[in-house]
Amino acid sequence: DNRISRISSSIRVIPDFPKPGIMFQDITTLLLDPNAFKDTIDLFVERYKDKNINVVAGIEARGFIFGPPIALAIGAKFVPMRKPKKLPGEVISEEYSLEYGTDTMEMHVGAVQAGERALVVDDLIATGGTLSAAIRLLERVGVVVVECACVIELPELKGRNRLGDKPLFVLVS
Ligand code: 5GP
Repeated sequence: DNRISRISSSIRVIPDFPKPGIMFQDITTLLLDPNAFKDTIDLFVERYKDKNINVVAGIEARGFIFGPPIALAIGAKFVPMRKPKKLPGEVISEEYSLEYGTDTMEMHVGAVQAGERALVVDDLIATGGTLSAAIRLLERVGVVVVECACVIELPELKGRNRLGDKPLFVLVS
């Protein structure tokens, strides 16, 4: 699929961001290319349109860019998975470990119902800690996590292994 190579070449790599030694994958250049952005969304929509998905759970912040157009195209609701103290209503929280310390992810109580089928969307999987927290949060309230979808995977970090038996679909490795 030559859409993949266009998407891949539209992603900019910024060395030493946010700290020395990190090669940051910058998807803002993908967003500047309407063809590459559309191809990205189309590839996800083609995969998920007939999978009976009710919920697209997007992870702050860049899962908020890719999640909503997928949700609209497949007729699912969009649920934001946010950093702590951002959501105004009652929340359910899940802590997860970072390289140094921990972080928390929150979701509104009542946003999803037990038995609904969810797709979890983020821009990139590195260690898999973020996606695995989102999976735990959704499963705690009885949601079926069908798959996780990211634009980019950093395979050398083996983040996939942290997702247990959950399938992960990525466009660019
Ligand atoms: P993980 O929890 O898998 O280690 O890290 C993934 C999270 O960190 C994602 O929410 C992702 O947006 C962010 N992240 C880590 N490294 C990068 C990167 O190089 N580029 C981008 N765009 N996001 C990153």
